[in-house]
Amino acid sequence: MTVNNLSLFEEKSFWLRSYGDYTPNPPFAGQAQADVVIIGGGFTGLNTAWQFKQDNPNARVIVLEAAVIGYGASGRNGGFSMKLFGMEPELTVLRWGKQRMIDAHHYMQKAVKHLKTMVEEHDLQSDYRHTGMFRVSYSKQQLKRCQKTYELFQKLGIDDDMSWHTQEELQQEFNSERFLGGMYESETGILNPCKQVRELKRLALSAGVEIYEMIPVTDIDRNGSQIVTQTAEGKITSDKIVLATNAYSRHINGPRKLKNRQMPLWTYQVVTEPLSKEQWNSIGWQQQQSFEDNRQLVHYFRPTVDGRITMGGGDVVTPGDECMDKDFAPKLWQHCENHLKWIYPQLKDVRIDYRWGGPTSVNLDMTPEIGYLDDERMIYATGCIGHGVSLTHLNGRTIADLLNGDKTELTDFWIVNRKAIPQPGNTLSYLGAKTLHAGFKLWDRWDERGLKRS
Ligand SMILES: Cc1cc2nc3c(=O)[nH]c(=O)nc-3n(C[C@H](O)[C@H](O)[C@H](O)COP(=O)(O)OP(=O)(O)OC[C@H]3O[C@@H](n4cnc5c(N)ncnc54)[C@H](O)[C@@H]3O)c2cc1C
Repeated sequence: MTVNNLSLFEEKSFWLRSYGDYTPNPPFAGQAQADVVIIGGGFTGLNTAWQFKQDNPNARVIVLEAAVIGYGASGRNGGFSMKLFGMEPELTVLRWGKQRMIDAHHYMQKAVKHLKTMVEEHDLQSDYRHTGMFRVSYSKQQLKRCQKTYELFQKLGIDDDMSWHTQEELQQEFNSERFLGGMYESETGILNPCKQVRELKRLALSAGVEIYEMIPVTDIDRNGSQIVTQTAEGKITSDKIVLATNAYSRHINGPRKLKNRQMPLWTYQVVTEPLSKEQWNSIGWQQQQSFEDNRQLVHYFRPTVDGRITMGGGDVVTPGDECMDKDFAPKLWQHCENHLKWIYPQLKDVRIDYRWGGPTSVNLDMTPEIGYLDDERMIYATGCIGHGVSLTHLNGRTIADLLNGDKTELTDFWIVNRKAIPQPGNTLSYLGAKTLHAGFKLWDRWDERGLKRS
């Protein structure tokens, strides 16, 4: 990744742009010895750093971020603090069995609670609101699948905060004719991701973590029992290292195993101008919940604190090469805008103020992963797909336990050092992703046949 000027970083999302003035910490130069080095200044890296430093106040903990804090998915996402684990519960049951699905759900419940508690206890100024989330269906086929998902949660006994909503109930809530029914989960929230990640920076700094920005790590090597992290103008030797580089992990020089853990998948978002009071009245949605639809290539929607709607999804881009700059996607942005206005024709004249995209980290079995690279001194976390906001916060606590060498309920969670299918080389990964992508598109087209789009 090349280091550009600050204004380019700000353009990477509406959240980064609207954050206002931001002064990054200076880059690292020279030589240092640390207890733990953490690469990546997103939710995973900063949560890990803060948790570990709290446990070990005398330890030297250094975070190195290639761009600015929140440059990656953490500063660009939808801000849904949600409980969805992996791709879909059906897939998790199929691949891992019922008990692991239940365990995963409990971990995600804990993750949402953990994030909310952090916000409350540390007064994080990230516009957090605990408003719950709907999953809605546009067609009979989607409705049938949604009902099955709801029944699965019931059968597994993990439906405690969930309820079913009919077409009439949804119509009352959202004043859109498009929703045939769906499920609601009350224990979820929404936040401003850029504010959140920079509040995490504040927390970590106040605990004594050292954070350096605009400093890409160029190489990682082992020297006896020590790990050597190299940057353009510096070198840090440490006992342990955490690779919190998410979708960028294929590009990290050094640990070879990291390259085949995942691949980046790009998703795109738009945000409207602030709606007027009349516009809000015309669309209902007074409780400000978030919602997703029940497609394979899902759309996601939520309000912002300044009265806008931000939504995204509906399709993804699989780069398949070494490029991590797929920010420009006019067709997908237009798709998002059209889709929003299809749901709410009342908003047909509303302006889109900002458009952006970002990389999520996806692996072959669509299951998050925390693991060691060769031995316990190198830890990585990847594969959160588009469901990593709450997950990465709790993963930070889990990784801190691993760094401490503690065996805890969290480190016993089955994604820690789980068996993972390695991703094949670039060409095969690309072809596989393309095939899957085409399959999902076809599936959605089939499910939505007969839907009027005009
Ligand atoms: C558009 C979009 C919408 C999403 N919406 C949601 C949502 O609503 N809810 C949800 O749960 N999840 C969502 N996600 C997923 C969620 O954002 C991620 O799972 C989460 O932010 C991952 O955090 P992270 O810290 O692991 O990775 P990142 O935030 O990607 O951080 C990785 C960091 O590593 C840095 N880095 C890379 N290479 C180097 C290097 N060589 N040296 C130093 N630093 C390096 C990068 O600059 C980056 O800042 C979405 C993702 C996207 C892209």
